[in-house]
Amino acid sequence: MDITYTAEEQAFRAEVRDFLRDGLPGDISDKVRGGRRLTRDDHLRWHAALNARGWLAVHWPKEHGGTGWGPVRRHIFDEECAAAGAPQIIPFGVNMVAPVIIKFGTEEQKRHYLPRILDGTDWWCQGYSEPGAGSDLASVKTRAVRDGDHYVVNGQKTWTTLGQHANMIFCLVRTDASVKPQEGISFLLIDMDAPGVTVRPIVTLDGEHEVNEVFLDEVRVPVENLVGQENKGWTCAKYLLTYERTGIAGVGMAKAALRHLKAVARRQERCGRPLIEDPIFRRRLAEVEIDLMALEMTNLRVVAAVQGGGVPGAESSILKVRGTEIRQAITDLLRRAAGPYALPFQHEALGSGFNEEPVGPDYAAPLAPQYFNRRKLSIYGGSNEIQKNIVAKMILGL
Ligand SMILES: Cc1cc2nc3c(=O)[nH]c(=O)nc-3n(C[C@H](O)[C@H](O)[C@H](O)COP(=O)(O)OP(=O)(O)OC[C@H]3O[C@@H](n4cnc5c(N)ncnc54)[C@H](O)[C@@H]3O)c2cc1C
Repeated sequence: MDITYTAEEQAFRAEVRDFLRDGLPGDISDKVRGGRRLTRDDHLRWHAALNARGWLAVHWPKEHGGTGWGPVRRHIFDEECAAAGAPQIIPFGVNMVAPVIIKFGTEEQKRHYLPRILDGTDWWCQGYSEPGAGSDLASVKTRAVRDGDHYVVNGQKTWTTLGQHANMIFCLVRTDASVKPQEGISFLLIDMDAPGVTVRPIVTLDGEHEVNEVFLDEVRVPVENLVGQENKGWTCAKYLLTYERTGIAGVGMAKAALRHLKAVARRQERCGRPLIEDPIFRRRLAEVEIDLMALEMTNLRVVAAVQGGGVPGAESSILKVRGTEIRQAITDLLRRAAGPYALPFQHEALGSGFNEEPVGPDYAAPLAPQYFNRRKLSIYGGSNEIQKNIVAKMILGL
C-alpha cells in the first residue's frame, strides 16, 4: 500500500484549489461556514458551476460526460471542497440514479435523463423508504400494476430528502407480491408532477423542512420509465446503495468541523483563559482529533486498495460508523464549547431574511439546530446498527 500522493496528484490538488478560489460563489461558502440555510437556488448555482468546469459527475465514465476520475482524485476533490466551504452536491440525481441509468438503463433513458441531470433540469429524490420498510428495505409495499403501456402506482414513501424541490423521484415498487420479497421489486422513474403524487413536509427535531412523505395515489407511469427488467429492481437498488455509501466517511467535512471547533475554543473563555487551554477540554479535543486521524488513515487505505483494482466491501461500513460517530462527537463538543450560547434555539437566524440581533457570538445560532440535525447521520444511508451487523458477519466472522 502506498498512501503518499504522487506529484501528479499534488498538481491536481492545486488545480482544484485554484478552481474553488474563483468558481465557488463567496456567498454560498459563507453560508456553509456560518452553518446557515442554503436555498434551492444556492444548490443549483453550485451544481451549475461544477458542471461548467466538467467536475460535476465525478463517478461517471467520461463517455457520458463524467470526469472518469479514480478514487484518489475523488478523495482529493472532496477534501478540498469541504476545506473551501463548498456545499455537498445534492446526490440523488448525479451520484445515485445516474449510475443506475448508465448501467441498467436503455439508450433512450440515457439520452433523455443524463444531460438533464448534468444541466440541472431535473431535480431527483429517492423513494426507497416506507413506513415499515427502512432497514428491511425488501419489504416495500408500494404497488405498481401493469395496465396497458402504463404502471398504476399506489403507496407511500417517507423520509424523502428535499422532495419538496424535486420534479422526479426514483422508486422501488412491488410488481409481484407472490414471490420472495427481493424478487418482486421493480425500479421506476416517476414524474413528481403526475396526477396522484402528493408531497407532505416532515419537520425534524432541528426545526427544518428537509424531509417529506410522498403519497402515490393511482399514479400512471409509462412503462418506458422502468429501469432494467420488471421484478429485477433489487439488483438496481443494491447497485445504487454502493454509490449512496461512497464517501460516507466524511473525512473532509469532519476536518473542516474540527478546525471550526478549535477556532470557537480559542474564542470562548473558561476561568479567564481561552477554553482551548483548559486541560479537560483539551483532552476531549485530542481524543476526537486522534480518532479522526485514524479514520483518515483507514479511509486512505481503502482508497489505495480501490485504486489498485479492489472493491470496497465491508470496510465502507466501518467508515460509515466511525465517520458519523466522529462528526456527531465534534458537534457535541462544539455545543459544549459554546456553553450557554448553545442553548437558545435560534433556528430563524439561519435564514437570509433574519435581521434581528442574534444571541451570543456569530457562531452560536447554528449550534443547537446543527446538533439536532447531525443525529440523522447515524440513521440514514443504512443505520449504524445495521452496519455493525455487517462488520460482525463479514469482517469478524461472528
Ligand atoms: C434525515 C433522513 C433522511 C433520509 N432520506 C431518505 C431519502 O431521501 N430517501 C429514502 O428512501 N430514505 C431516506 N431516509 C430513510 C433511511 O434510509 C432510514 O431511516 C433507515 O434506513 C432506517 O430505517 P427506519 O427509519 O425504517 O428504521 P428501522 O429499520 O425501523 O430501525 C429502527 C432501529 O432499529 C435498528 N434495527 C433495525 N433492524 C435491526 C437489526 N436487524 N439489528 C440491529 N438493529 C436493527 C435500526 O438500526 C434503528 O436504530 C432518511 C432518513 C433520515 C433520518
